[in-house]
Amino acid sequence: MQVHKRTKWENDDAAFPADAYSVDGYPGIAWRVFGWETQPDEDTVWSGIEERTGNVICIMVGDDRRYSIDPANVHPLDDLDYCAECGQIGCRHDGRDRETA
Ligand SMILES: [Zn+2]
Repeated sequence: MQVHKRTKWENDDAAFPADAYSVDGYPGIAWRVFGWETQPDEDTVWSGIEERTGNVICIMVGDDRRYSIDPANVHPLDDLDYCAECGQIGCRHDGRDRETA
C-alpha cells in the first residue's frame, strides 16, 4: 500500500455500497472507498480512457490523503460501527443515535 499521488478513480457504488469500511492492517480505523483506481495506458492519450489497476482508492474518515488498497483487504462496516467525526471504529462521540432495542 502506498500514498496515492494522483486523483483518478472510477466510482462503483454497486461494488462499494457501504458508507465506511475497515482495512486490514489498520485496526480501529474506518475508511471511505471512492472507487477503482485507474491509470493511463498507451491508448489513453487518444481514447481518454484509463485502465483500472485492480486497487481501490480509499481515505481514512476525517483525513484527505488517498491510498491505493487491494480490495481484498477492504471490508464493509455497519453504518453505526464507526465515529463519523474521528473515524475510529467503536467511538460514539459523533452524537449519532445508536440506541438499540
Ligand atoms: Zn469519535
